[in-house]
Amino acid sequence: MKSYAILVAAGRGERLGRDRPKAFLALGGQTLLQRSALAFDRAPSVAGIVAVVPAGLEGEGRAQLAGLGSLHAVVAGGDRRQDSVRAGLAEVPPGFEGVVLVHDAARPFVDEGIIEGVVAAASDAGAALPVVPIVDTVKRLRLGEIVETLDRAELGAAQTPQGFRLSVLTAAYAAAYRDGVTVTDEAMAVERHGGRVMAVPGQADNRKITTPEDWAWAERHLLAMESAR
Ligand code: C5P
Repeated sequence: MKSYAILVAAGRGERLGRDRPKAFLALGGQTLLQRSALAFDRAPSVAGIVAVVPAGLEGEGRAQLAGLGSLHAVVAGGDRRQDSVRAGLAEVPPGFEGVVLVHDAARPFVDEGIIEGVVAAASDAGAALPVVPIVDTVKRLRLGEIVETLDRAELGAAQTPQGFRLSVLTAAYAAAYRDGVTVTDEAMAVERHGGRVMAVPGQADNRKITTPEDWAWAERHLLAMESAR
């Protein structure tokens, strides 16, 4: 099954404490946006890439992705992540009968294995996302007090790309906007709409670059990958 990839890169990246939106920062000579986009461009199922960038940076985004055969559109994002996803979704051809992938550009080490695993599971079940096990014990807190310990065996950390049949995501998003709900990922919109979402194995290095520590890890990881080649 074919797929369309929406790369969300419109966050300000304030937790990284740098002067540019984080997807536009270069890691080993390529920005996070370029690295993520390259992985999708190489994946066999991907028919088109939509990049969602901060308003005003559309031209720069287009220039960064100019060489990619599957680039379809570069558009401005919105205030919340879901607003950025919605802007990207509007660019997917309405009659497209495949899987829409939504990926954080801030996860530059995504690879073909994860992408095609999500496409296969989403085309089968309607929705799927990569999950990695939680290593810490997770507590529920209220006003600084621990009120519950969650069963770690039942928990997983959600990664991207999250994949959906186009009709599944469109309907779930319409419902979230109708109900005035903020969702922290696309799967949450589908879950609350009663849809089934399958988990596929994620990868530890498909990590979201959020803090300066994550950036330092990404630089080390890139060097390790290059020296292993
Ligand atoms: O802020 P966080 O790291 O969780 O953002 C995850 C991804 O969503 C990033 O790639 C970021 O650029 C994107 N995002 C967006 N529009 C927003 C907020 C976040 O495209 N308004």
